[in-house]
Amino acid sequence: MRDSANMQSVSVLIPLALPGPYDYAVPDDMMLARGDFVRVPLGPRQVNGVVWGPGAGDVAPAKLKPVLARHRVPALRDPLMQFVDWVAAYVLAPPGLVLRQVMRVPAAFEPEKPVFGYRPTGTPPQRMTPARQRVLDVLKDTPPLPGPDLARLAGVSGSVIKGLHEAGSLAKTELATTGSERGPDPQMVGVALSPAQQEVAIALGTAVAAQTFGVHLLDGVTGSGKTEVYFEAISEALKKQRPALILLPEISLTAQFLARFERRFGSPPALWHSGLTPAERRRTWRAVAENRVQVLVGARSGLFLPWSDLGVIIVDEEHDGGFKQEDGVVYNARDMAIVRAQLTNCPVVLSSATPSLETFVNARQGRYKAHRLAARHGAAELPDIELVDMRTSPPQRGTWLVPQIGTAIEAAIERGEQALLFLNRRGYAPLTICRACGHRYACPNCDAWMVEHRFRRQLECHHCGHARPVPESCDACDAPDQLVACGPGVERIMEEVAARFPEARTAILSSDHMGGVAGIRETINQIAEGGADIIIGTQIVAKGHHFPKLSFVGVVDADLGLGNGDLRAAERTYQMLSQVAGRSGRETTGGRALLQTHMPDHPVLQALVSGDRDAFLEREAAAREQAGMPPYGRLGAIIVSATDQQEGLRFAQELARKTPSHDALRVLGPAPAPIARIRDRYRFRFLLKGTRQAPMQAFISQWLGGVQRRGSVRISVDIDPYTFL
Ligand SMILES: [Zn+2]
Ligand SMILES: [Zn+2]
Repeated sequence: MRDSANMQSVSVLIPLALPGPYDYAVPDDMMLARGDFVRVPLGPRQVNGVVWGPGAGDVAPAKLKPVLARHRVPALRDPLMQFVDWVAAYVLAPPGLVLRQVMRVPAAFEPEKPVFGYRPTGTPPQRMTPARQRVLDVLKDTPPLPGPDLARLAGVSGSVIKGLHEAGSLAKTELATTGSERGPDPQMVGVALSPAQQEVAIALGTAVAAQTFGVHLLDGVTGSGKTEVYFEAISEALKKQRPALILLPEISLTAQFLARFERRFGSPPALWHSGLTPAERRRTWRAVAENRVQVLVGARSGLFLPWSDLGVIIVDEEHDGGFKQEDGVVYNARDMAIVRAQLTNCPVVLSSATPSLETFVNARQGRYKAHRLAARHGAAELPDIELVDMRTSPPQRGTWLVPQIGTAIEAAIERGEQALLFLNRRGYAPLTICRACGHRYACPNCDAWMVEHRFRRQLECHHCGHARPVPESCDACDAPDQLVACGPGVERIMEEVAARFPEARTAILSSDHMGGVAGIRETINQIAEGGADIIIGTQIVAKGHHFPKLSFVGVVDADLGLGNGDLRAAERTYQMLSQVAGRSGRETTGGRALLQTHMPDHPVLQALVSGDRDAFLEREAAAREQAGMPPYGRLGAIIVSATDQQEGLRFAQELARKTPSHDALRVLGPAPAPIARIRDRYRFRFLLKGTRQAPMQAFISQWLGGVQRRGSVRISVDIDPYTFL
């Protein structure tokens, strides 16, 4: 029943940065209900929106503009609409901007365009050619095919097909576009699980079968087969005919993962990521809205797809910082997945070998149910982790790798295995200096050094993307050929490796891959298939990949990231190094990792060597509790930026004067941001620190509501910030 069918006016939320929904009149011949997608006038334009409820009634119905049309798309369900409102209130974004995450695919509202294919009529053409024959041969064993596919399969040009159509040998026929494909099959038999895996699989399956909300931590060491275990939870959802959503850090969406899925369920899942074509996005969005998708694997925005129901949400690599969206609507998809699951009343599974401290504490306090896999699957054992003290045994002058690492690489290659060198720094060198005058190359738009990228022969800013060719003479003193590169990036390590192992096949895995995300995935697949002997990678290599032949990991600079003063510096370094080391020895015997460090006594490095993760997390948790930091307290950040430094500063000072006071909240700042200028905008930060119960959002709303933004000033709010730059 469309219960609100007698509404005279409706409030419509429009996916724009407006303060809230607007009222529209409902034409006599239209029936509308909450959740319907509609087309409405907005000023001189027509826009799409969603009926959010009955009209607020502030404007007399006679004065309202009418709704123009209702789209033939299934209405949004209540849990998703509540989710939009919840996220908007939590991250302090206009609800329309959050709704925009749902409505990113405007083409999905248009009626489906018919797709035509060709079938043979049985009438041979008067003139037969080898090309024409190939086309007819292809169609002998297949259903009708669209022209481009047919041309590709037959190896002919489109004109050959057109010619056959005109000759009466091919006829056009409309193809079905929806719903006929076979979906994942829960009845297929998966890989054999160990007793420990079986126990967790049953527990998760029971939770899914119960169809109630709960948060589950799937905590298993690297290589313990967490994926196979949560596949069983998905299988249970499929049996209940409720769809499953798997969220992965974008880069982890590889052919490898999909192959594992297909082995278990017999057909691939639906996909949702930035690499889809507009047509694929449209088809997938539509299929989700029409409840035709059973399992979808996606990046964080998969949460905002128009699900009519969900049986389980899996957040794989839950500790990964990539789940935090930093532009536009600033949200953490891991945390929002929990909210989404609660509103939909289904369980959510957080999976990781290195859970975030927040998740660890929640599990220890019993808010999340923890399931543990303490051993690697099968015969594999966790790698040995050793430290190399760079203070007492530094590498040779002009090199970055200690001799032990060279020896270990050599041994791995001799055994026909792979070695990985990890350095979380893109490019060739992080700083370029003139030897003659000491000039340092900085970005003209940011307070940051230009990073040399030798393969591309340019200097690049990693904050704004500004790039310039490497100059032949110094900008400052004009001396030719005096520029020196300071410090290593992955390209420089590659250079050293190539000189030392000229015969070895090498691969670089870095987010600035020429081929974009697709190129990265391809390189990952090549490595997994044994197509490289030595891999040099940035943090991308830490994201759950399975490289069966990898047996040695060398970490070039284990201290990088420990010194930046960020509240999560230790936790993140532990996670990253533990994940990187965990790539080794997954299917080989005797996996090993060597970490180059100047701080061998640092608790993070000691925890990695001893393998006592929980003791490390307990200590971190105690320190956070002491300091009232998350998860024992709450943080918020306000960033004021302006193109004019004085304008920004004056505004930040005015904001500071108007700070409301509250017992449970402290405001620190304004202070110039650690990177005080990005993209030619001067930046000032406030940090808000409160107790767990502190009314952070209400406080910020009241505060910012009392000041008028002006000039070039922009204000952005980051609730639960992960970056402090
Ligand atoms: Zn110079
Ligand atoms: Zn820059």
